[in-house]
Amino acid sequence: MTKYKLEYIWLDGYTPVPNLRGKTQIKEFAEFPTLEQLPLWGFDGSSTNQAEGRSSDCVLKPVALYPDPARTNGILVMCEVMMPDGVTPHESNSRATILDDEDAWFGFEQEYFFYKDGRPLGFPESGYPAPQGPYYTGVGYKNVGDVARQIVEEHLDLCLAAGINHEGINAEVAKGQWEFQIFGKGSKKAADQIWMARYLLLRLTEKYGIDIEFHCKPLGDTDWNGSGMHCNFSTKYMREVGGKAYFEALMAQFDKNLMDHIAVYGPDNDKRLTGKHETAPWNKFSYGVADRGASIRVPHSFVKNDYKGYLEDRRPNSQGDPYQIASQVLKTISQVSTAAVSAAA
Ligand code: ADP
Ligand code: MN
Ligand code: MN
Ligand code: MN
Repeated sequence: MTKYKLEYIWLDGYTPVPNLRGKTQIKEFAEFPTLEQLPLWGFDGSSTNQAEGRSSDCVLKPVALYPDPARTNGILVMCEVMMPDGVTPHESNSRATILDDEDAWFGFEQEYFFYKDGRPLGFPESGYPAPQGPYYTGVGYKNVGDVARQIVEEHLDLCLAAGINHEGINAEVAKGQWEFQIFGKGSKKAADQIWMARYLLLRLTEKYGIDIEFHCKPLGDTDWNGSGMHCNFSTKYMREVGGKAYFEALMAQFDKNLMDHIAVYGPDNDKRLTGKHETAPWNKFSYGVADRGASIRVPHSFVKNDYKGYLEDRRPNSQGDPYQIASQVLKTISQVSTAAVSAAA
């Protein structure tokens, strides 16, 4: 038998952005356990904005697990928060009721800032560093400093070893700003991995005395880019059938549902989606081929391939909840009839 360190991880009840929480329990198993072997567990919801003090128990229900490469015999256990009955989702549980479809593929591009002493890593104590330009995908001390890349590489290795499906990393437009991309089949699978990668990044940077700033516009109304979490998506139908008529019907539905999308694309997005810095204004839907100033960017390959493939919704922001983002994308897609389009074509 081996004693495993099970880190139960969940989202707390803070709004508009939940925090990640985690605590460890030790359990013995003959070999690496399956999800079904992991017990429900509890925590004090009155300390996480999830319950009143009088009746404070909330239940943790394991929903995904990953080996924890930073710990000997460690396991990262993604959990949903349930009511004391263990079956009713807690109101803060944004995962339990979302739309899911394993044939819907999602690629999230998570941008974030490293912060130290209350400002982006590499910013001088007062004022600003040299303007944006050389930082995006940059190399060299003056562009990326001396520690950011080390953290980014360490994070990448941790995620890969945990089985998180990273697809890439890059330095971003602002100094101290970076990005990683995660691809998953199914909204829960992709979104669980984003939350777990966020957790690993936050935990990793503790020892460096560095914070992660996920806010979408930490430097306010300045000439510094904000942070997004572009959502690239494709359904089986989009990949295999597609077509211009279906694409146009889909875009019309995205236009119609504008406010439903903005509602779950992360807080303060009006400060980021201004029409500047490769963004589209938050209150107007647009799409365009290879257009980084549109709400939805249509890759060249999509058009060349008879309107088949994936699309990039550029509006979700870095603090957005990937469960809700993916679910809203699927909801809008579900409102477009594939039968009617095929019949009309
Ligand atoms: P850019 O920075 O040019 O917008 P990235 O390379 O950072 O692009 O991100 C592209 C994303 O698209 C990746 O996360 C990738 O996983 C995702 N992606 C690629 N093909 C598909 C697909 N068929 N369905 C959904 N997402 C996809
Ligand atoms: Mn990218
Ligand atoms: Mn980017
Ligand atoms: Mn992108």
